Amino acid sequence: MSTSTEVVFVVAVADLDIFSQRFILSKFIMADEEDGEFFRLFADVPLNPPEKRDMCDRCKRPLSVCLCAHFPSKYLQISTRVHVLQHPREESRLLTTVPLLEVCLPPEKLVIRRGRRFNSKTDWPELHKIMTKPTTLLLYPGPEAENIKKMDKLAPGEHYDIIVLDGTWRQAKDIFHNNPFLCQARQVQLEHDHISEYVIRTQPNSKSLCTIEAIALSLSVLENNDEVAEALIRPLRALCKIQLDHGAVVHFNKDHQDEILLRA
Ligand SMILES: [Zn+2]
Repeated sequence: MSTSTEVVFVVAVADLDIFSQRFILSKFIMADEEDGEFFRLFADVPLNPPEKRDMCDRCKRPLSVCLCAHFPSKYLQISTRVHVLQHPREESRLLTTVPLLEVCLPPEKLVIRRGRRFNSKTDWPELHKIMTKPTTLLLYPGPEAENIKKMDKLAPGEHYDIIVLDGTWRQAKDIFHNNPFLCQARQVQLEHDHISEYVIRTQPNSKSLCTIEAIALSLSVLENNDEVAEALIRPLRALCKIQLDHGAVVHFNKDHQDEILLRA
């Protein structure tokens, strides 16, 4: 057995609990007589339980990078219901912004569905049920999209349902084109002059927003309350600052990169 194999093995096993460690070690002893002596030595060593990083119960992040000081002290009171259709690859990406939303919005006001195709009425009954309501909006830009600022104010007791596609721009486009039923909803877009503060990921152009920013600005319009936008964007700003403090680099949007290339 080479030295590098030993190092990789020890590092991998050290992350497991003591029972898993001993089980794996005993299997290795049985499986490989030639290297048995090496592993037998380890099997009798009392192993310490792995040191787990303390996690914050609320934001589910390690305590050293907890964002709770930047979240609202309690769930934001909103009437709109937000439906996020999340591309499956987005969930696994580090630094996706939807978990920030989950801390800020009450669970009954935020529904997250993961997948690429939602066309089946049997699999997604609640989503299909709201599609024909005049108060259901699909936030997706396009020539047919209405300005969200021009939506009617609703009577007390009524609420908007807003559907947002979460992923990279390509993934969002993929969901839009693979789910033609989404066009039953009123398509709306944001006209804004907000410059994305999500500087740790490249945005396609200077008008692009990340998911939480798009939802924040939409909610502030539909709820007629600017504080909602600020309350949702504050934790995003803090997240980016922490990442930059830990060595992340600022990602300029593609427009900005093109501008630099033209100037060069
Ligand atoms: Zn926290």
